Amino acid sequence: SFDTQALQQLDSAHFLHPFTDHAALRERGARVIVRGDGIYLWDSEGKKIIDGMAGLWCVNAGYGRASIADAVHAQMLQLPFYNSFFNTTNVPAVKLAALLAGLAPQNGPNAFQHVFFTGSGSEANDTIVRMVRRYWQLAGQPERQVIISRRNAYHGSTLAGASLGGMPGMHAQGGLPIPGIDHIGQPNYAEGGRGMSEAQFGLLAAGWLEAKILELGPENVAAFIGEPVQGAGGVIIPPSTYWPEVQRICDKYDILLVSDEVICGFGRLGTWFGCELMGFTPDLIAFAKGVTSGYVPLGGVLVGGRVAHQLIEKGGDFNHGFTYSGHPSACAAALENIRILQAERLVERVALETGPHLKARFASLVAHPLVGHAETCGLAAGLNLVRRKGATVHDCEPFDSAHAVGMLCRKHMFDNGVIMRAVGDRMIVAPPLSITTTQIDEMVERIQYCLDLTLEEVVG
Ligand code: PLP
Repeated sequence: SFDTQALQQLDSAHFLHPFTDHAALRERGARVIVRGDGIYLWDSEGKKIIDGMAGLWCVNAGYGRASIADAVHAQMLQLPFYNSFFNTTNVPAVKLAALLAGLAPQNGPNAFQHVFFTGSGSEANDTIVRMVRRYWQLAGQPERQVIISRRNAYHGSTLAGASLGGMPGMHAQGGLPIPGIDHIGQPNYAEGGRGMSEAQFGLLAAGWLEAKILELGPENVAAFIGEPVQGAGGVIIPPSTYWPEVQRICDKYDILLVSDEVICGFGRLGTWFGCELMGFTPDLIAFAKGVTSGYVPLGGVLVGGRVAHQLIEKGGDFNHGFTYSGHPSACAAALENIRILQAERLVERVALETGPHLKARFASLVAHPLVGHAETCGLAAGLNLVRRKGATVHDCEPFDSAHAVGMLCRKHMFDNGVIMRAVGDRMIVAPPLSITTTQIDEMVERIQYCLDLTLEEVVG
């Protein structure tokens, strides 16, 4: 058993948490999570919770996988750590690099045959910033420096990651973005698509990229980066016309295309990588999270042939890397995690079984008086809470943001044993890929109950 109060006091006295209002935390005390199994968590008071967010969009294989712990344990006894600098390598890193090259999207002559390992998704995106600039230097166009990203994107918390990201709350806290990074709007139909079809809006939103390239001068632009489906921004699913048009524009101006697959990679959308579902073939892919199901930290960059060729054949040293690049124990976790995803066909199940089931169940929640609309893509989904429903997404009347209805709803969820994320008044789920259809039903029933509680409070 655990002394919750003592842990909470120590926590608030010493632990500075990421993205947390510490004054509020002190009032309530942090919830102490002590155990996980499958899609369930338990807190220090013994309460069982459905983890609708797979940790932080990462525990794809679910909690409690003893075989991942065993693989890490065995590797730690054999060789817990060695670096991969200066002509050394290790067995799990070699095996994982080869496995990832085989799993990566088919990309013709630009195939992903190489991997650069990092410790996190933020480091993967920082690596990408340095890698694309180095690429253009080697390709004889060093003035190509600017990387275009999107507002409301999340690409991490390092200086480059947070700059690439377009989160106003992060930029507002000073010094961001760093030079050489520019932003365009996000392909959010609900926000910007009034009066047009989704297909038309997708082309319009991709056109913002072309306009930005022309404004900056194509000769100054190095790359465009985006998440196939924006995660932290609120599960923003772009119209099907968006990514193919972005690809066409990047090709037209010879700009590198980067897919940030930190959330979408490793099956979240029902394909191994989100770009496969969205119909584009990037030059570089950032990954992290699901590669180890979060059991130990690991990230990296899948490098397509175009960039790899320059770095390897012409580059000499790429003066970049991390102590933990190719960490053997982390790579051992990834190898076993990917074996599980394959053996249990978890990615195919998202495409054929669990994803469609979540879609149907979320669609049925639109009957609830609070829910304006629902969207899902694989096992990522969002529900919009609205003051008044409308015939289309553009006719719904939102709540005044001062009412913080999303946060209220999230609190009810948390108190009643289901974790959802609130992005404004959009409620998000992204459960472990190991979730069953029966467990999806259980989760949706709890969500429905908490929507009722929220409604009572909003009306009352
Ligand atoms: N990129 C995306 C799309 C993410 O969602 C995240 C984290 O949520 C990151 C990058 C940063 O990854 P990390 O937190 O591992 O640094």
